[in-house]
Amino acid sequence: MVVGDIATGTDVLVIGAGPGGYTAAIRAGQLDLDVTLVEKNAYGGTCLNHGCIPSKAMITAADVAHEAGNAEEMGIHADPAVDMAQMVEWKDSVVDQLTGGVEKLNKANGVNLIEGQAEFADENSVRVGHSGEGQGSESVEFEHAIIATGSRPIEIPGFSFDDEPVLDSRQALALDSVPERLVVIGAGYIGMELSTVFAKLGTDVTVVEMLDSVLPAYESDLTRPVKKRAEELGIDFHFGRTATGWEETDDGIRVSTEAMEEEVAAEADGGAAETFDADNVLVAVGRQPVTDTLNLEAAGIETNDNGFIETDDRARTEKDHIFAVGDVAGEPMLAHKGSKEGEVAAEVIAGEPAALDYQAVPAAVFTDPEIATVGLTEEEAEADGFDPVVGEFPFRASGRALTTGDSEGFVRVVADEESGFILGAQIAGPEASELVAELTLAVEMGATLEDVAATIHTHPTLAEAVMEACENALGQAIHTLNR
Ligand code: FAD
Repeated sequence: MVVGDIATGTDVLVIGAGPGGYTAAIRAGQLDLDVTLVEKNAYGGTCLNHGCIPSKAMITAADVAHEAGNAEEMGIHADPAVDMAQMVEWKDSVVDQLTGGVEKLNKANGVNLIEGQAEFADENSVRVGHSGEGQGSESVEFEHAIIATGSRPIEIPGFSFDDEPVLDSRQALALDSVPERLVVIGAGYIGMELSTVFAKLGTDVTVVEMLDSVLPAYESDLTRPVKKRAEELGIDFHFGRTATGWEETDDGIRVSTEAMEEEVAAEADGGAAETFDADNVLVAVGRQPVTDTLNLEAAGIETNDNGFIETDDRARTEKDHIFAVGDVAGEPMLAHKGSKEGEVAAEVIAGEPAALDYQAVPAAVFTDPEIATVGLTEEEAEADGFDPVVGEFPFRASGRALTTGDSEGFVRVVADEESGFILGAQIAGPEASELVAELTLAVEMGATLEDVAATIHTHPTLAEAVMEACENALGQAIHTLNR
C-alpha cells in the first residue's frame, strides 16, 4: 500500500461494470455478499454505452426511415428526411435510461460503487486510480475478485482511431451527420450491422473484407440473403482484399487496398492494388480483450496467446479466488454469455453449486434479414457422432412473414434422429433474434422435435415457422412439402 492511500476491504471486488461485471455484482449483492464494483468509464460497459444497445437503436431508426421511404407497394408514399443529430440524441436517451438503471440496481442491491481504474497490486488487493488531477488513488483488499474488463476494437496498421476520418464502431454510432461515402473494413457482424444502417440512411457504402464472404463465421445459406439484401441497398463488396492505408484528397479520403492472393489480384477489378474514395472509413475487424492494463502478473494470472484469461466451468482463473467473466474470458464475445458467467461467478463465491454450460448459447446478427443460431449445425452434429435429422421452414410460406413484407430466409432445426432431441437451430429472417429463444430453451431443457411440434403456436406469428420446421423434420409439416 502506498503511504497516503485510503484502504478498504471487500468480500467480492468486481472490476468493470459491463454486462459481465454489473450482473456479477448485483447477483453477489442478492446473495448477501459484501460487494464493491469498480468502473473507470460508464456503468453498462461497451454493451449499453457503445455496443449492443446504441447499435440496435440506430438499426431500428434506420429501418424506420428506410421502410417509410420504400413502402409504395403497400400504398404508402413518403420521402422521410433524416436528422442524424436528433437520431443520435434519441439513441443517447435510450442509453442513458439503461445505464442509469444499472447504477440504481447496483445501489439497491447494496453494491458499493467506486469510480476509477483498478489494477492488481498483489493477489488480494488492487489500487484504484481516480481520474482528474489531484484525485489520487485508493487500495481495496478483497477475498474474491471478478475480472470483467471487457474488450476494445482492434486497430490495424495505417488506420489510427485518433485520426478523424477513421472510425471505430463507437465513433460511427455517434456521428452528427450521415456521411455521403463510407468504406467499411471488415464484413463481420459489427461491420455488416453498421454498413446496413448507413446504407439505409443513404450513405454509399463500400465493404472491404479479407475473406471471401460476409459474416464468415456463419453457414453460407444463412448469409446469402444478407449479402443479397445488402447489395440491393447498394453496398459494394470487395472480398479477398486487405486495407493498407488512407490519404486525404480534395474532397475526402482515399482508402488503399491490396488483393490478398496473387490469383485474386490477377482477377480482381483494379488488380492487386485498388483504392476507394470516401468521407470516413470504419474499421470493424474484431475486438481484443482488455487484459493488458490490469497488472495481472501481480495477481499471478497469465493470459493465453490471444490475451484472454482462461477459466474453468465455474468462471475461476488459475487462482481459485479470482474469476474472469465476459469478453476477457474468451469467445463468444457476447453480452449474454458474459452476464451468465457473471451470475455463475457470484453464485460460486457464495458457495452455491453453480456451473457454466455452453451447450445453448444463442448468437444473433441484427442485419437485414437477421441471423440467429444456437447449438450445433448439421455438420457439427455429425462430427459429434450424432445421426442428425434436419427440418426447415421458409418464411415465404409464413402468413405472418408475408404480412410484414419481409419473407426472406428460413428456420432450420437440427435434431438427433433416434431420440428426437433438438441439438441446434439456424435462422435467417425477420425477428430471427427473437425466434431463436424458443429453440435455445429447447436445446437447454433437452426438448424433442415432438415437444415443439405438439406445442400450439399463436396464429399468425413468425413463431409458427419454428413449429413447422420441427414438424418438417418429423415429416409432418402442413404448410411446406416434407423432405
Ligand atoms: P464490457 O461491456 O466491455 O465492459 C467492461 C467494462 O470494464 C467497461 O465499462 C470498462 O470501462 C471497464 N474497465 C475496463 N478496465 C477497467 C479497469 N482497469 N478498472 C475499472 N474498469 C475497467 N453483444 C451481444 O450479445 N449482442 C449484440 O447485439 C452486440 N452488439 C454489439 C455491437 C457493437 C457495435 C459492439 C462494439 C459490441 C456488441 N456486442 C454485442 C458485444 C458486447 O458489447 C460485449 O460482448 C459485452 O459488452 C461484453 O461485456 P463485458 O462485461 O465483458 O465487457
